Amino acid sequence: MEIFHGTGVSPGIGIGRSVSIESLPSEIYRISLAESELGPEIERFRASLVDAEREIQGTAAEVRRKLGDDLAAIFEAHSLLLKDQDFIERIVQQIKSEKINAEWAIHRVVTDLAERFQAMETPHLRDKVEDLRDVGRYVLRCLQGSTTHDLSELGSDVVVIAHDLTPSEAVRLGRSRVVGFVLESGGATSHTAIIARSLNTPLVVGLEGIGKRITDDDPVVVDGKEGKVILHPTDEVLERYRALAGQMKARDSEMQATRELEAVTLDGTSIDLAANIELPEELADAQRFGARGVGLYRSEFLYIEKSPELPTEEEHLEIYRRMLAEMAPHPVVIRTYDLGGRKLARELLATHEDNPVLGLRGIRLTMARPTIFRVQLRALLRAGVDGELRIMLPMVSGVEEVRKFRHGLLRLMKELDAEGVRYAGDPELGIMIEVPSAALTADVLAREVDFFSIGTNDLIQYALAVDRNNEHVAHLHQPHHPAILRMIRFVVDSAAEAGIDVSLCGEMASDVRSTALLVGLGLRRLSMAPRQVPAVKSRVRQIDRADAEEAAKRCLTMGTAQEVDDHLRTVFGAALVSA
Ligand code: PEP
Ligand code: MG
Repeated sequence: MEIFHGTGVSPGIGIGRSVSIESLPSEIYRISLAESELGPEIERFRASLVDAEREIQGTAAEVRRKLGDDLAAIFEAHSLLLKDQDFIERIVQQIKSEKINAEWAIHRVVTDLAERFQAMETPHLRDKVEDLRDVGRYVLRCLQGSTTHDLSELGSDVVVIAHDLTPSEAVRLGRSRVVGFVLESGGATSHTAIIARSLNTPLVVGLEGIGKRITDDDPVVVDGKEGKVILHPTDEVLERYRALAGQMKARDSEMQATRELEAVTLDGTSIDLAANIELPEELADAQRFGARGVGLYRSEFLYIEKSPELPTEEEHLEIYRRMLAEMAPHPVVIRTYDLGGRKLARELLATHEDNPVLGLRGIRLTMARPTIFRVQLRALLRAGVDGELRIMLPMVSGVEEVRKFRHGLLRLMKELDAEGVRYAGDPELGIMIEVPSAALTADVLAREVDFFSIGTNDLIQYALAVDRNNEHVAHLHQPHHPAILRMIRFVVDSAAEAGIDVSLCGEMASDVRSTALLVGLGLRRLSMAPRQVPAVKSRVRQIDRADAEEAAKRCLTMGTAQEVDDHLRTVFGAALVSA
């Protein structure tokens, strides 16, 4: 038995067998090539066709053996398409005429052909769309040198070991038979961690080099609370963890029983606890654990799940309406796409960025892509007639973005008027406060919008210059750093002055060690992963507002996060400030 210690960022116990995922097909992006690079790029593309053909034939043979000729014929069809000269020539021409990399050329050709096939009357041709996409994926995988990780090949109770996973990979894997994730990189507020918690799948990060220490099919236990990974557990250890997993399940049911309790402090101050939602299946959790509305819907996950295709207006509308119906009469805050950065949408950016976290991300990308803006905002305006829908913009850095956005919104309203489509004429519009420039001009911004939501995950990243995905500086991502507390205070005061709502929806909202401090800083609405609502609620019920305010006031004068923690511990006792 061997024990590895990392950082547990999604609690729970996973018991299974290891599978190491080295390279899922990565995101596709566009690279411009020089004239002299085009020949070798075409060669690289042709070589990938040979590899893809070998892969398809291998799969076809296996399917024939196990499932018979009928099903193997699917792969024969793939093989034919792969040899189709017209298909190959189109891609070669794209590389030459656009001077682009083979991956991007394949993506363009496949998307274009798929759209045309889809529009055809003949069902036979429409059926070709999936074949075409499959073939595109085979070639991309071969180009990128990655091995096939068909999820259907995974056995049951799998513990995924990887250097890193993108949020979309985590969604895809987490929904299959994966019982735990173990990553070499990552931090507690990374989007992959957020997704693991959404899926209720244990995740331990920061285990550098673990990929080399664990081979496939090893028995493993993942303890996502303690941050432990146990390789080859003894029977006794296994038994202990099985019992622990059982207790956790029982606690889950107890937590649901707190649903009806009010989130009020000892002195009767009400604190609204809402849900952060990434995936539709979390709506049920939001209800089970008693969240009052949705404080943050990270709508980019709608795209991430469908990528590289963009969801249609109707698809947006459907999920927004569902959320409003399920959470009624409580409000639902839908954040427009926060794509770019590490959430990735390279195919939308169509360009390489050295520093994506400071690049075309969030509202910047939405405003730079009229189609993205139009499709999502039309759906939001239309859904607004069905309930208390609030629109929120991510990554706002100043007033100009808000004004431009409003301008665009008015244009869309005129368009909907002309079409005679019903929509919400005066939707509440709010912004995330997650860029330091927005926090420091909150008094000005408060006059332009209807509400604020403080995104501490990014606010800390940008204010303290600490990459939220980097395990080497994870200890510096400090929510209790006095600089952050001062920003929160200023934002809360600015909102109060202007008479607008303010909430906090970063991961700090779900950490019971911060609850008293946040109440003391004046927050009355927190939004968090649905499963965290009961724990935060029970913490709220132990707090006296005057004590919290006094403590917050003192903390604002301090120099370090450590001093803040020590003070909180002295005032509230270890029980109130430990997780
Ligand atoms: C944040 O930055 O705190 C936030 C809630 O947004 P996200 O985690 O999606 O970047
Ligand atoms: Mg953010």
